[in-house]
This record gives sequence, C-alpha cells and structure tokens, in this order.
Amino acid sequence: MKITEHLENAKETLFSFEILPPLKGQSLKELLEGISPLMEFKPPFVDVTYHREEYIYKKHPNGLLEKISTKKRPGTVGICAAIMNRFQIDAVPHLLCGGFTKEETENALIDLNFIGVENVLALRGDAPKTEGKFIPEPDGHHFASELVEQIVRMNNGKYLHEETETSFHTDFCVGVAGYPEKHFEAPSMKFDLKRLKEKVDKGAEYVVTQMFFDNQKYFEFVDQVREAGINVPIIPGIKPITTIGQITMLPRTFFLDLPDALMDELEKCKTNAEVREVGIEWSINQCKELVKAKVPSLHFYTMSKASTTYAIAKEVF
Ligand code: FAD
Repeated sequence: MKITEHLENAKETLFSFEILPPLKGQSLKELLEGISPLMEFKPPFVDVTYHREEYIYKKHPNGLLEKISTKKRPGTVGICAAIMNRFQIDAVPHLLCGGFTKEETENALIDLNFIGVENVLALRGDAPKTEGKFIPEPDGHHFASELVEQIVRMNNGKYLHEETETSFHTDFCVGVAGYPEKHFEAPSMKFDLKRLKEKVDKGAEYVVTQMFFDNQKYFEFVDQVREAGINVPIIPGIKPITTIGQITMLPRTFFLDLPDALMDELEKCKTNAEVREVGIEWSINQCKELVKAKVPSLHFYTMSKASTTYAIAKEVF
C-alpha cells in the first residue's frame, strides 16, 4: 500500500522506523530478529537506507596506494524483499542520486516494482567522505527533485528512451527529505523551502524530516512549510541519543542543535548507560508531545538499535 494511503487511513499517529543494511560480511538474520519486537507497535512501513560507495586505500608492498571503491552496506533491495516477505508490511527503500546514472535509476526502479515495492524515498545523498562536495555521475541527477521527476515520469509510462515499448507504467508513491534546522548547504531557510516545494511540485507526496531534538523546531518548520504552499504530510524523524560520542557526533554530522535542557541532563552523565537513559526519557517526552499534536507518524531512526526504539515506543503507543 502507498504511504499516503496508510496515513489517510490512520485514525491516530502511526509508528514507523528506518533501518540500515548490515555491514558487508554480516548476515541479515540478526537485523530481522532485532526488529521483530517492534512489530508489536504495528508499523505499516519500514524504511531501508541506501549507502553509496566509499573509497578505501590499499597499501601495496612497493608503497603505492590503490584507491578501491567499495560498498560497506549493500543489500537495500534484498532487505526490502525480506521485510515484506517476513512481516507482511511495506518496505520503503531509499534511492539516491549519488552513484547512479539515470539509466541505473530506471533499472533499479524496475527491480523495485517487480518485487512489489510501492514507495520510495528519493534523496540526493551526500558526497563520499573523501570528496568535498556532491558530484553527480555523468548523466546522473544533481538534486533529489530531478530524481522525483524521473520516478514520476516512469509512473506516467515515460522511460528514458523513446524506443522502450511501454505497455506498463510504475505507480510509486514518492517521499522526500525535509530539514527543520535547514539543510547544511542551503544559504537560507527560505531557499531550502523553495527547493522542498520543487520536490513536492514535481510529485513528492510526503516528507520525512531530519532528526531534531527540540519539537518547537519541528512545529515552526511545519508552519513555514505550509506558508510556502506545501500541503503534503510532514513525518517527524526521531532519534534518541544513546552514547556519549553522539552528543558531539550528531550535531557535527546532521547540522542540528541539542536544546539546553537536554544538554544540562547529558552533561551530568558519566557513562553511555546514563546517556541512554536520559536520551530515552527525552525522546519519550518529545514523542508524547508530537502525538498530542497529531503528527502523521513517528519515524524512528533506529540506527539498527531496535531495543532503544522499543523502550520509547512502549511508553508512547
Ligand atoms: P536535495 O533535496 O537535492 O537538496 C540538497 C541541497 O541542494 C539542499 O541544500 C537544497 O537546498 C539544495 N538544492 C536543491 N535543489 C536545488 C536547486 N535546483 N538549485 C540549487 N540548490 C538546490 N543519505 C544517504 O546516503 N542514504 C540514505 O538512505 C539517506 N536517508 C535519509 C533519510 C532522511 C529522512 C533524511 C532527512 C536524509 C537522508 N539521507 C540519506 C541524507 C541525505 O542524502 C542528505 O541530507 C543530502 O545531503 C541531501 O539530500 P536531499 O535529498 O535532501 O537533497
């Protein structure tokens, strides 16, 4: 079923979450067993992230370095199939501009359609860590809005090459990303909102937000989004802090602020266990307020730590 249908049919706030494929060399078994307990909260859909190639350097005996392209977390499409098969719920693969030509995107969408995927989250992706800025593939997309456009064209039976005989069109529901604290490359919030509107105008039907820790930022974002003339559902992304390292890593990586009241509590923590306790408590309060405000779904970034999400959901749903 389409995400938009799930949201329309819902009488109250839904529970959904996002998982990462396991690292290459690890099995899927632990991941699927790990998320099993979350089925208690009846998620209608689960997102599966996509990870583009990274570069590693191999040193040869003669001292030369070989640059090798590798994918550390392949398997997004296979995991979607496994989730749909095992839990009988929808899986939403993330699809990136980065690392894909338009032709590869078209073929990926055909694969997804053939395995029964009905929703995709269309994203630009980031630059690989070794590159300073995002560079599309030759004949790839520069921005998520272009990817949305390609998916919608396929939904209308328009493939890349006129020679493709089309007796069939896809019917994907497309989601996109939104940033309550602004995307880090956008010169201003107003600019970023215009770009978000482009994605929606081109056919995106819902938005999932970057994580945030201050609900006020989400509420203000939704107000600004509506003022900009965007009327699709805005699903808030929730991530509990669970380790001391995340206190600096999350703001650095995702360009967000931690509220003073949260920091006051985190600064008292000496161990990861204490941080996790504070993080869970904070998320529970955040989620309860968001449910009260009737948000469409609480979308958890599990980062493959389902037990933390479980502890929060148990108190909220
Ligand atoms: P875009 O919407 O293309 O925007 C990127 C930047 O370009 C913004 O600053 C925007 O303002 C600007 N921009 C857009 N259009 C134009 C234009 N026409 N002209 C000039 N500027 C423009 N990354 C992964 O690698 N894998 C994942 O699975 C993944 N999942 C994510 C899920 C969610 C919910 C979120 C919020 C992010 C996720 N990301 C993921 C991270 C995402 O790829 C990065 O944040 C990336 O930097 C931006 O992606 P986007 O789709 O928002 O890009």
